[in-house]
Amino acid sequence: MKAQANGWDLVLRGGRVIDPESGLDAVRDVAVTNGRIAAVGTGLTAKGDIDVAGQVVTAGFIDLHSHVSDLGGLRLQALDGVTTALELEAGVTPVAQAYRRAAEQGRPINYGFAASWALARMEAVAGLPPDASLGAFMARISDPAWQRPAEPAQVSMLLARLAADLAEGALGIGVLLGYAPGTSPAEYQRVAGLAAEAGVPTFTHARDLIEMVPATLADGAEEIVRAAAETGAHMHYCHVNSTSQRHIDRVLGLVARAQAAGSRITTEAYPYGSGMTGIGAAFLAPERLGERGLSPSSLTYAPTGERVASPARLRELRQADPGALVIIDLLREDDPADRTLLMRSLTFPGAVVASDAMPLTWTAPPADPRVWPLPPTAITHPRTAGTFSRALRLLTREGPLSLAETLAKCSLEPARLLQDQVPALRQKGRLRTGADADVVVFDPAAITDRASYQHSTLPSAGIRHVLVNGAFVVRDGGIVAEARPGRPVRAEPR
Ligand SMILES: [Zn+2]
Repeated sequence: MKAQANGWDLVLRGGRVIDPESGLDAVRDVAVTNGRIAAVGTGLTAKGDIDVAGQVVTAGFIDLHSHVSDLGGLRLQALDGVTTALELEAGVTPVAQAYRRAAEQGRPINYGFAASWALARMEAVAGLPPDASLGAFMARISDPAWQRPAEPAQVSMLLARLAADLAEGALGIGVLLGYAPGTSPAEYQRVAGLAAEAGVPTFTHARDLIEMVPATLADGAEEIVRAAAETGAHMHYCHVNSTSQRHIDRVLGLVARAQAAGSRITTEAYPYGSGMTGIGAAFLAPERLGERGLSPSSLTYAPTGERVASPARLRELRQADPGALVIIDLLREDDPADRTLLMRSLTFPGAVVASDAMPLTWTAPPADPRVWPLPPTAITHPRTAGTFSRALRLLTREGPLSLAETLAKCSLEPARLLQDQVPALRQKGRLRTGADADVVVFDPAAITDRASYQHSTLPSAGIRHVLVNGAFVVRDGGIVAEARPGRPVRAEPR
């Protein structure tokens, strides 16, 4: 877009501009130039002038928990208002390779990665070379070889791998602890110690809670809180909704007490009752389902939509393709008590909205990744496409929070959570002059998720425009086919 006399590429004119940090909530024009917000005011004009009266104009959403790397999935996230999607819980190792690959492919939205404890452990304990992808983890998810207790030399080796990733700008350390229940609590504390030394957060998928597995080596929640207290690390507790299930109040109570005592612990949740992971996960073994109050029929095999009928069928599916995705009924969205719990995980002070967005899985040979709209043979968890719009609907349109409060959970608070280690995030999550032009424009009366468990790739409704670094990736509600303005987000190593 050609700059005009006033130097601006674009003006979004007459929208309701909301910036939770400054408290601004007023009709304003927003001028964008060179990938930044150049001015916020009234009477601003440029040749690239778009009328957004009646629409909300605010900072794009920052998703701290996205496993998506395919173009189709990233587009679904963009259509849900996401302008930055970070792979922090699983992480990827080596991170330098992941950043390189993403840059080569080009992405519509900003990206970034934590180091992966699980991949580092697979290498150190089981001799499996890491390849910087979630696929490498999924393929080995059920392999007991990487889940066993580690020898001291193996712990040293995995810590060295993680340290090397941190030196490359990894955003922290992702710890899929719940997938390797044989890991010693001491190893986890060492990982937290490394994070504390490097001044970066950890992002943990908690170990089993003691209510579920009385013989667990440590209570999953107590262990996170202990790591924060003993090492001083910033511990981020991933998806408290799904790993806590009906123990959400106990877990959040524990977190609140630790926070009050001075520990840096943060939380996130996604607004769905069901989870999704690889069917080969240790906690989905037929003999272990009862721990979570589940049975085989609580599982839907995503590639075919099959409800798993029996323990024998579950064994068969786990054997055939352990990394195949499965939807797991954890909380019942139609049960008022469960819904209340889910809402508490989202409204907990400081809890951020994070999607746990999943890669697309296919019921037929995958289509060309550039194909849009997605064919019906592409399937995912509805959280991939709908988390942020659904949060706005449940928390604000139908719920207790103001629009600014919900928006803070989607953009400002995720930016603040990481910005000490990632100075670039000081320029995101804000709609103010000088900030990155990562902007979402939406209709506050119409915004809603449309993806469901049956139709998991329906894009959200009500999102009008999405800009990433000043370039449209969504315009007039539709995907801009060639747009790849996403840039890397990296930590600045100490
Ligand atoms: Zn997880």
